[in-house]
Amino acid sequence: MKKTAFITGASSGIGAACARRFSKEGYNLIILARRKDAMESLVKELVTRTHIIDVDIKNSNELENKLLQIPDELKNIDVLVNCAGITLGEGPVHKAQLSDWMNMIDVNIKGLTACTRMVLPRMVERNKGHIINIGSTAGTYPRPGNPIYVASKAFTKQFSLALRADLKGSNVRVTSIEPGTVKNTELALGRLGNDRNRLKSLYDDYDYLEPEDVAESVFWVTRLPARVNINRIDLMATCQTFSNLQSHKKDI
Ligand code: NDP
Repeated sequence: MKKTAFITGASSGIGAACARRFSKEGYNLIILARRKDAMESLVKELVTRTHIIDVDIKNSNELENKLLQIPDELKNIDVLVNCAGITLGEGPVHKAQLSDWMNMIDVNIKGLTACTRMVLPRMVERNKGHIINIGSTAGTYPRPGNPIYVASKAFTKQFSLALRADLKGSNVRVTSIEPGTVKNTELALGRLGNDRNRLKSLYDDYDYLEPEDVAESVFWVTRLPARVNINRIDLMATCQTFSNLQSHKKDI
């Protein structure tokens, strides 16, 4: 019988790459995002059965209703990839829009939490399953620019580790995958005023990770023997590395 992977944030970027990867490996899919048209285009490339959930992950009631409507044959979810995420706003931190901060908390933290909570009981009941949360290097190495996004990714990491601690005694696996910059996704559009030219110029000169590189690590952790749990993967493009602690002079 085919396995089932449930991938949130699958209408573009890393989530779409994961959907392609898991489909190629014979998994049936449940894919979730707001843009139904983008997911319908993706489905044309996929080779296995795919159920689309078009929902705003911030709306937990609607999310729950749509999860209840998953066809019975796909209800035994083997892999949940929590990939939906946003980053919003640019400029000085004290001028950030509070609504942007709340939005990031709602999607990156509450959305991920809700999906996990809704999928986990059946995994525990079946004593199998794998939850993979897409964090970021930002969750470990603080950097200037968008502290709420950074903090939401620290949440993702720590939630994954703590969840694993709580799942002691069960065979359900939990992995936090934490990439550095990934090009050819739409994430940065949210802080660039949806300007695709600025998005392109951000990446043009750099050989950053591609969505497929992250999808490969997501798939890899699932194919290891059931006795192996990869707790965290911290990955970056070779061209990217750490920066110095920063200082400003005392008279500024
Ligand atoms: P994309 O913007 O390409 O993908 C984000 C996905 O999340 C889209 O499918 C989007 O779909 C979905 N999404 C956003 N908001 C909602 C919502 N309210 N409800 C449901 N779905 C939503 O970016 P990436 O592929 O880059 O990002 C995927 C994950 O990877 C994110 O969690 C991000 O933080 C993380 N990441 C990305 C890095 C990068 O440099 N790109 C680096 C490290 C981590 P739709 O708009 O259709 O709703």
